[in-house]
Amino acid sequence: MAENVRIDGEKLQVDCPECGQTNAVPLEKILHGPVCGSCQVKLPPPNRPIEVTDQTFDDLVRKSPLPVLVDFWAPWCGPCRMMGPTLESFAGKKAGQVLVAKLNTDESPATQNRFGVQGIPTLIVFKNGRETSRQVGAVSEQVLEGLLPP
Ligand SMILES: [Zn+2]
Repeated sequence: MAENVRIDGEKLQVDCPECGQTNAVPLEKILHGPVCGSCQVKLPPPNRPIEVTDQTFDDLVRKSPLPVLVDFWAPWCGPCRMMGPTLESFAGKKAGQVLVAKLNTDESPATQNRFGVQGIPTLIVFKNGRETSRQVGAVSEQVLEGLLPP
């Protein structure tokens, strides 16, 4: 499945499911029913993991009106790859309630170091820019659910 949401500064680039037009949506507006600038169809909330880097991480966790579940992972890590489909499914089911993000620790070591992430996968939930829970190791969707703030 193609990536339909990317982050660019404080905006999400959302591909319209109807016409394919890419729309820049400010993070704080993602829950306010943004519509496609081209065909006026309502854009869905992000329903797939969003790739973040050292450059985009802060914007996403600080500006998101939703809790953000960040998966610290790397391509060479077997358990991380096992988590991939779980995170995809979770992001789909929880669209509009949580943003799921993935940070490649090989490409973005600064963020990994800042949060003292040693083993991967590590999953950290942020609410209003603050860490609220953390889990190390590959886990089920039920465990992910339990990490979310009430
Ligand atoms: Zn459209």
